[in-house]
Amino acid sequence: MGVLREEKPNSGKVVTPHMPQASRLPAMGETTLLKELDAHGVKFSGRMESSSGWLYALASWVLPLLIMAGIYRVGIRKMGQSGGLLTFGKNRAKIHDQSEQLKVTFEDVAGVDEAKAELVEVVDFLKHPKKYQALGGRIPKGVLLVGPPGTGKTLLARAVAGEAGVAIFSLSGSEFVEMFVGVGAARVRDLFEQAKAKAPCIIFIDELDAIGKSRSVGGVFTNDGREQTLNQLLVEIDGFDSSEGVIIMAATNTPEVLDPALLRGGRFDRQVTLDRPDLEGREAILRVHTRKVKLAASADLSVIAARTPGMVGSDLATIVNQAALLAARRGAAEVERRDFEEAIDRVMLGLEKKKQVMSAEEKERVAYHETGHTLVALSVKHADPVHRVSIIPRSVGALGYTLQLPLHEKYLMTQPEIEDQIAVMLGGRAAEEIIYQGVVSTGSSNDLERASELVRQVVTRFGMSAELGPLTWGVPNSARFLQTPFSTEPRNYSERTAHMINEEARRMITEIYAQAKGILTERQADLKSIAGELMRKETLYRADLDRLLTPAQPTAASQGRLQ
Ligand code: ADP
Ligand code: MG
Ligand code: ZN
Repeated sequence: MGVLREEKPNSGKVVTPHMPQASRLPAMGETTLLKELDAHGVKFSGRMESSSGWLYALASWVLPLLIMAGIYRVGIRKMGQSGGLLTFGKNRAKIHDQSEQLKVTFEDVAGVDEAKAELVEVVDFLKHPKKYQALGGRIPKGVLLVGPPGTGKTLLARAVAGEAGVAIFSLSGSEFVEMFVGVGAARVRDLFEQAKAKAPCIIFIDELDAIGKSRSVGGVFTNDGREQTLNQLLVEIDGFDSSEGVIIMAATNTPEVLDPALLRGGRFDRQVTLDRPDLEGREAILRVHTRKVKLAASADLSVIAARTPGMVGSDLATIVNQAALLAARRGAAEVERRDFEEAIDRVMLGLEKKKQVMSAEEKERVAYHETGHTLVALSVKHADPVHRVSIIPRSVGALGYTLQLPLHEKYLMTQPEIEDQIAVMLGGRAAEEIIYQGVVSTGSSNDLERASELVRQVVTRFGMSAELGPLTWGVPNSARFLQTPFSTEPRNYSERTAHMINEEARRMITEIYAQAKGILTERQADLKSIAGELMRKETLYRADLDRLLTPAQPTAASQGRLQ
């Protein structure tokens, strides 16, 4: 599904000049003259004058020019009709006109409800730019769609355009890179010019990372073309006012490599995350893709969704497609359960090779680990409320996540707040230790890293350790860029102090860890019931958690506060 209509804006536009038709044209003049000479019996001889005469000039110069001008005019008119591209062969932006029947809407994108909810505002703005202009409100300029490959970023961008009924100018970042220096930048300029003329509309840059990679990455041998392109992009983004009715959207699956300049305020300052779909989401996606497929009663989509944890929209689209093909090959009239089973196996095999599928044991461990974070967050006094917990990997390297949303923005943290935050970080490992009789996994390394960094800061930056006193020790992180990579960190403290810092950090972590473990040991019943439900549903929301928790916990007071 979802074949993009590839417009060929160049058809009829790129002109291959015809050979100057010099050899034929002089004949026109000759005919009458020769006839007359013949008639009067005049003997004559002739020699081709190759580079003189107005006829020749006319033939070799003026006519081809006229022809070209003609073709150019026709071409331009054609381009105008196709609602397409203006400048001669320069830009290959694909424009999806919304009049066509290939229009994509939010209904075609399933399992990403939060992302859609965040984009409703953008759609509304594109629909009624006047309303916003009159109010003078600040409209987002750039929206960055972030998520693993195949989660529907490109699809969603087109759906936003479809919902708003505006054109979308899309270009892929990778189309910029393998080009001569300067061409990429020129294309960016063109793209924006075209879009402004067609406002309201969307500019969509797919695979933004291809041009938007941090300029510092790559060292000495930077790609000049890419850097120019990126700079041009920044100039263009800054140079227009979103009240003109143009919204820039971009997609990437590696937001961490993007040049920070792109993410600064007034550029791609709004990020919309597309997660891998959970059970419900996968079923919804399957439903979208089976709309035109004849399903047998045996092909229960909820069962198929349960069989495909970790898979993204594009995987599911492939499965439906494959299953339909298999059924057709069997000569069956309907797609049956077994067709899906086989299609799943095939797709799974490919994913296993790419290491994107978790085993059942791993899934269980991840469930306990995440539940550990969640339960500690629900139990301690100062943690941000848990919004959602999931064992569907959200980013590269992660296997699950617990999402806490702060009630309001914080500018300061007190020592108890930091300690509670560390407790939440350590909750994952503590849960593993409790459930698996002391056998822990590598899954906590990132948690430990963050907790260690934080506790070190407590001691060396915040002066919160009674042992070391209200002093800062060492060079703050923010000043580290002043150092060359070769200089060792200048320590303004003695070996003995270094030892004390380490000891103090370890003491704090150990204490907080014991506290987290204590909480989880006490709430083991909850730990098990939540982890079990998490394994079944893959994602649990706050309401699910509240329903599962044993009432009348000693921490009930703090829970009330967290809601
Ligand atoms: P991305 O840009 O995130 O890599 P795409 O938008 O290109 O992913 O998705 C590829 C295809 O997979 C889509 O054309 C669509 O058929 C299917 N797909 C992906 N995500 C979804 C989704 N959330 N809902 C429905 N179909 C999806
Ligand atoms: Mg894409
Ligand atoms: Zn963790």
